[in-house]
Amino acid sequence: MSDLGLTPSSRRRAGPLDVAVVGGGMVGAAAALALARAGFAVALVDAREPAAWRAEDELDLRVVGLAPSSVLLLDALGAWAGIRDARASGYEHMAVWDAETGAALRFDAADEGRDVLGYIVENTLVQSVLWRALEDAGVQCVVPAAVVGYTEREDRAQLELDDGRLIAARVVVAADGADSPLRAMVGIDTHGHDYAQRGVVAHVTTAHPHERTAWQRFLPSGPLALLPLGDGRSSIVWTLPDAEADRVMGLDDEAFRDALGVASDFRLGQILSVGRRAAFPLRLRLADRYQSGRTVLLGDAAHAVHPLAGQGVNLGLRDVEALRDTLVSARDAGRDIGASHVLRRYARRRGSANGIDAWSFDALGRVYGWTSPPLVAARGLGMRLVNALAPLKRPLARHAAGR
Ligand SMILES: Cc1cc2nc3c(=O)[nH]c(=O)nc-3n(C[C@H](O)[C@H](O)[C@H](O)COP(=O)(O)OP(=O)(O)OC[C@H]3O[C@@H](n4cnc5c(N)ncnc54)[C@H](O)[C@@H]3O)c2cc1C
Repeated sequence: MSDLGLTPSSRRRAGPLDVAVVGGGMVGAAAALALARAGFAVALVDAREPAAWRAEDELDLRVVGLAPSSVLLLDALGAWAGIRDARASGYEHMAVWDAETGAALRFDAADEGRDVLGYIVENTLVQSVLWRALEDAGVQCVVPAAVVGYTEREDRAQLELDDGRLIAARVVVAADGADSPLRAMVGIDTHGHDYAQRGVVAHVTTAHPHERTAWQRFLPSGPLALLPLGDGRSSIVWTLPDAEADRVMGLDDEAFRDALGVASDFRLGQILSVGRRAAFPLRLRLADRYQSGRTVLLGDAAHAVHPLAGQGVNLGLRDVEALRDTLVSARDAGRDIGASHVLRRYARRRGSANGIDAWSFDALGRVYGWTSPPLVAARGLGMRLVNALAPLKRPLARHAAGR
């Protein structure tokens, strides 16, 4: 491991790195790679070794829908071909319907002049492909190591790791997830609320094919998504109030399949088999600001959102592009890349864009929770209008695609 900016505490400190990224999930790993490819000297610190992805293993339970904007970024980083060729499932259609009124919205890739609307991919696959690329790009991967201390001097920030090593960098990127310890260390608070809901996830086999369609049924208890996998199965994200999530997690497979069949309105027929299940607590947690001194937040450390729009990681990857562009412009203009006025530019841009998206997803969840008959009727009418009128529908499709 090179010495640049990374030293045992007992040794004299070397000059600072350009950027130290803390957290090597999908977003942090993409940030480290994007910044290294842009010519910055980068270290990536993670408390855990990333889980290995192997084709012969069962699909990772955590999958995400990547929007076209995310695919473009991963492609520009040289990571997309490895993900696509390993196991990515393109979907051409998205069908959303309201359990109460039957109103539906449908999006087709062909209407947007594209082959697919997006791809369903496993978290571990994306993370492993990115990590494999990091070494080639010259990123110093410091793992496993947790950050336990943070200090700042005039020209650098310094991270103290749990093994006693120190990392000095002009910019520190906190990409250490929704509970971000680094966010707390630099004194940034959060706002938002717990949904008192959990997302129950599993991969299921259905009697009817998924037709390369991402299905989502809005029930008063929360949305149920069935996302198409490449092997013909569907990956479910079933949002339920906490107690109900506990109940369905405790059902045996047969009872679970029956309950899921009813919740999906048997749109893909009977649920024939279900694999391992897991449940994630859902919350809206937004950082009050994205910058403090030489540190910026990105990914879930900055914004943990409801999964109903399938946009969490896509927002994080847009943060990555914005940060890279901000740092490149500062460097090209001969400025200190870690100066507050430089980092504030990134923070303002992404803070407002993500805030609008996060509260829109939140509002959408509330609208589908309405039970009063006039409001339910208005919701059905609204959905039918949007579906029928291209000038209303197209901006939604474009926004979801990250355009
Ligand atoms: C049920 C569910 C379904 C979802 N579906 C979608 C979807 O369809 N589309 C979508 O875009 N998003 C989806 N999301 C959201 C998506 O999974 C997250 O937005 C994304 O994984 C966040 O990535 P991240 O890299 O910011 O954080 P994380 O993946 O949480 O990574 C954080 C990293 O930081 C490391 N770390 C933590 N503490 C420290 C420390 N002290 N020192 C060093 N390292 C540390 C961790 O080890 C980890 O590797 C879903 C989420 C849930 C819960």
